[in-house]
Amino acid sequence: MKGMTAIQCKNRKTFAGSVTKYIDAEWKLQEAYYKAQGCKVVEVDSVAWGGCECEHCESLEHKFEELIEEIKG
Ligand SMILES: [Zn+2]
Repeated sequence: MKGMTAIQCKNRKTFAGSVTKYIDAEWKLQEAYYKAQGCKVVEVDSVAWGGCECEHCESLEHKFEELIEEIKG
């Protein structure tokens, strides 16, 4: 059984994940954001923490954090 939902980039690396049963509004927003940037949402057993090493993803992740801060702030 796959218990994690994760974001997978174009290079097939997963770089953000959430336990599927704890999916919340912030995660849903994150999914929509990354899908719009060409990433996929996948179901996995576990996520390789440490982030994606490709530059594209690093900047995406950074931008999402800024977006969330703006919404919360
Ligand atoms: Zn990547």
